[in-house]
Amino acid sequence: MPELPEVETTCRGIEPHILGACVKVVTIRQAQLRWLIPGHLIHELPGLKLLAVDRRSKYILLRFASGVLIIHLGMSGSLRVLLGSEAVQKHDHFDISFSNNVTLRLTDPRRFGAVLWQEGAQEHKLLNSLGPEPLTEAFDINTFLIAAANRKIAVKQFIMDNKVVVGVGNIYAAEALFAAAIHPQAPVNKISKAKFTKLVAAIKYILAVAIERGGTTLKDFVGGDGKPGYFAQELQVYGRKGQSCNVCQQSLQEIRLGQRSTVFCAKCQRLPRGVKLN
Ligand SMILES: [Zn+2]
Repeated sequence: MPELPEVETTCRGIEPHILGACVKVVTIRQAQLRWLIPGHLIHELPGLKLLAVDRRSKYILLRFASGVLIIHLGMSGSLRVLLGSEAVQKHDHFDISFSNNVTLRLTDPRRFGAVLWQEGAQEHKLLNSLGPEPLTEAFDINTFLIAAANRKIAVKQFIMDNKVVVGVGNIYAAEALFAAAIHPQAPVNKISKAKFTKLVAAIKYILAVAIERGGTTLKDFVGGDGKPGYFAQELQVYGRKGQSCNVCQQSLQEIRLGQRSTVFCAKCQRLPRGVKLN
């Protein structure tokens, strides 16, 4: 599933090819994604100049003078830049061709992605309840403590909640909790300020590194099937169930938390003092 670093990398990868270009043709081959792609886009977009390529959480925002095209990659989507014509494959559902002969193509085998249009300057309703961006100053220890006050929710589910902070997917949540030495099931109201401070720093660091890694494979957005992201050999816990912890050598454990697999080190990641799990 494309996570925040892949989405950020996608934005950076496509922007230089399409920024400032005018839309020539919009092609909808399969409208039924997570929501129906609005059919009026084929009349609405041609002639409009692309003013900015942006991102909010995992939504890619293509900004035009009269509105914003919102693209979400869902579970399996990818956006590619085609510099010439390329045969259409089965899951190529949506194209925007630009006046500079570049085509932006959305491919999405599982069709959980989305293409939506927000008229005017207003923010789309999907975006206005989102929490802060993890790599901005808006996400700091204070916003975290306020959101955690009086809540007993497990910390892993807390940091994966888009209202608390956006873009911390399963892989990055597991890695950040290991880096901060916090048990994934620790109730958030029992975690010390010092631990939370470490966790905020770990989330920022891990996402920044993942984006940097993605940045090394930008060329994949032209033609190829672009699969940037975190280097597997750098993962400390994610996907390493049963292997030994890189810090203490103890075998890593897997639990289910909120229907998601969670791998952690029971020795390095302790529960807060006095907390017992049922
Ligand atoms: Zn360990």
